Amino acid sequence: MRFSRPLIAILFLTCMAMPLAAQESKATSNSIVTSLDKSADPCVDFYQFACGGWIKNNPIPADQSIWSRFGELAERNRTVLRGILENAAKATNRSANEQKIGDYYATCVDEDSINKKGIAVLKPEFDRITGLKDKAGLPALLAHLHGEAIDGLFGFSSGADFKNAKEVIAQADQGGISLPDRDYYLKDDPKSVELRKAFSEHVANTFKLLGDAPDKAATEAKAVMDIETALARGSMDRVERREPEKIYHKLSQQNWQALAPSFSFAKYLSGLGAPTFTALNVAPPDFFKALDAELKTVSLDDLKTYLRWHLAHSQVQALPKAFVDEDFNFYGKTLQGTKELQPRWKRCVAAADGDLGEALGQVFVEKYYPPEAKARTLKMVNQLEAALHQDISELPWMSDTTKKQALVKLAAIQNKIGYPAKWRDYSALKIERGDALSNSLRANAFEIHRQLAKIGKLLDKQEWQMTPPTVNAYYDPTENDINFPAGILQPPFYDFKADDALNFGGMGAVIGHELTHGFDDQGALFDPEGNLKNWWTSEDEKAFKERTQCIVDEYDQFVAVDDVHVRGKLTLGENTADNGGLRIAHMALMKSLADAARQPEKIDGFTPEQRLFIGWGQIWCQNETDQMARLLALNNEHSPGKYRANGVVQNMPEFQKAWGCKAGQPMVRANACHVW
Ligand SMILES: [Zn+2]
Repeated sequence: MRFSRPLIAILFLTCMAMPLAAQESKATSNSIVTSLDKSADPCVDFYQFACGGWIKNNPIPADQSIWSRFGELAERNRTVLRGILENAAKATNRSANEQKIGDYYATCVDEDSINKKGIAVLKPEFDRITGLKDKAGLPALLAHLHGEAIDGLFGFSSGADFKNAKEVIAQADQGGISLPDRDYYLKDDPKSVELRKAFSEHVANTFKLLGDAPDKAATEAKAVMDIETALARGSMDRVERREPEKIYHKLSQQNWQALAPSFSFAKYLSGLGAPTFTALNVAPPDFFKALDAELKTVSLDDLKTYLRWHLAHSQVQALPKAFVDEDFNFYGKTLQGTKELQPRWKRCVAAADGDLGEALGQVFVEKYYPPEAKARTLKMVNQLEAALHQDISELPWMSDTTKKQALVKLAAIQNKIGYPAKWRDYSALKIERGDALSNSLRANAFEIHRQLAKIGKLLDKQEWQMTPPTVNAYYDPTENDINFPAGILQPPFYDFKADDALNFGGMGAVIGHELTHGFDDQGALFDPEGNLKNWWTSEDEKAFKERTQCIVDEYDQFVAVDDVHVRGKLTLGENTADNGGLRIAHMALMKSLADAARQPEKIDGFTPEQRLFIGWGQIWCQNETDQMARLLALNNEHSPGKYRANGVVQNMPEFQKAWGCKAGQPMVRANACHVW
C-alpha cells in the first residue's frame, strides 16, 4: 500500500472482474461509440477522437488521482476480491489459505480495534531503536528492521545475476528515502522546494502523533530531511539506472565492505539471517561510499530519529486513523492531488493482495478464470509472435546475422499466462484475527526471508512477480518471458464477443508491447538465456540506436502538464514497446483477416483497421489531477495516455491510410520513427 509501490508500473493496468459470460458485447459496442468524440478529427488529435466522450463523462472519483479505463476495471476487480475476502472471513470449515485471507482481511477492516490499540504493538520496535547505544550496534538493528521490510539507509535482497541469469545472487542497492525520487531532494525549482516543505511538515506531524513536543518534532523532521538528502545525493539518477551495465557491479563481500568501512555488513547479514555467499551485485557502489560518509558524521540521536520515522512510515496503514490521515494528507493530497482517502475496505483488499496475493489469487482464478480464457490468450500470443517473427525478418535496417540472433531470442521467450503453475506455500506464515500490525509485520518478514532464501539457488522461472488479480503485465529480461496475470483478459483488452479488430487493438497490442520489451533499449542487451550479453553486430547496434533516438526526440516534445515535458529517455523502453506492439498487432490482424475467407464488415461505421486503432486509443483514455500528471511525468517510465495513443499512431503509415490522413496533419509525423 506504500506509495512507492504502484509508482513503477502504474500503467498497463487492467483487471478481471466478472465471469466472462456476463459480459455483453452490445454494451461494449455502445461504450466504444459513446467514448468517442466524433466532432474531433482523428488525423488532428486521435486521442481526442477516440477518448473525448469518455474523458467528458468520467471525472476523477474523489478517492483517485488518476481515472482511466483501467481504473474502471480495477474498481470492479476490487469488488470481486472484496466478496472473496468477506466470504473467507465468515465461512466455516475453511482451508488453510481461506483462514489466512479471511482473518487478515477481517482484522484489517476492523478500524475500531486498530484505533483502540494505538501504537502499543510497535512499542518493542521503537524501544529497540531508542535503545541503540552506539553506531556499532546499527548493523544488527537495521538487520532486524529490514527483516520486517521496514526501510532504512539502503536496500538488500536477491535477484538474477545479470551475467549468469540462471543463478540468483544477493543484491545491495540504494534506498532509504521517503520521497518518490532522489530529484525531489536535489532540485531547486519552486514546486520541489514547496514539496520538501510539505514533506518536512508531514514528518514533524508524524513525530507529534508519536507523542513528541512540537519543537522537538520540527528538529526531528530536519534530521530526517538531512539524512535523506545525503542519501539522495549519493543515489543514481532514474534514467541512468535504466542502463543494466551501470547497475551491475559484482563484488566480493570484502570489496563491498571496503566501500563502507563504518558499517559492518557481516554483522548485518548475520542479523538478517541471509544465506552465506561470496559475491553479490552492489548496484551503485558510489551510493555505499556516500552512505559511509553520512554514517561517519551523523549523530547517534539523528540516526535513531531517522529510523523511528521509517518505522512509523512503513507501517502506517496498520496504525490508528490519525496516522493514516496524516499520511494521506501528504502522499495522497499534496503529492497526488487526491481529494479523499480510499474507504478502508479498498485499502485492505490491496493489502491482502500484497501480503497474501497467491492465496487470494488462487480463489480468484478458480472462480473467474476459466481454462478457455487461457486458451484464447495463448492463441493470440502465438499470432503476435508470428507477426513479430515476420516483422524482424523483413526489417530493412538489420543484417541477416543479427536477425538470426533476434529470431533465436524470440523463439526462446516463455509465455506465462493467467497464474503460476505452482502456487506459493504460505504455511509458514501465521495470520491471526485480532492484530493487524502483527499480521503485517509477519507477512513482511515472510516475504523478505522468501527472497533471501533464493540467494545461491537456481532462478525459478515459474515464479511470478505479480499476483493473478493484478492489473498489469510484464516482460522480464533475465527470464526472457512475458507474463499476463489472469486479470488482463477482460474488456477493454479482450472481449470474447467483440470482433477481432477491437481485440487486436487492445489485448493484441498489449501482448505485442510485452514481446517488444524483449527488444527495446534494455531488452536488446540481454540474450535468449537472459544474460547481459551483446548479440548484435556493431553496424546493427548503431542503426538501432539511431532509431531509438528518434523515439527519444519524439516523446521529449510532448508536454505532460504545465511546463513539464515527457522524459524521452526515461520512457524510451515503454514507448518502443508501444510502437512495436501496435505495429505487430496490426500485422497480426491483417493476417487474420486475410486468412478468413469473407470480407469483414464495417461495425458502428468503422472498418476493421479503424477499429483496431480505436481499440488501441481507448485503452489509454484517462483523466488525472495536475499533481499526478507531474508526478508520473517525472518518475514513471510510461508516457501519459494521450501520448501512448498519439505518439504511436503518428509514426504509422497504416494508421494514416486507414483514416485518410494527409501529409502535414498532426497525426502524420514528417520524421516518423520506426524501430520494430
Ligand atoms: Zn511495458
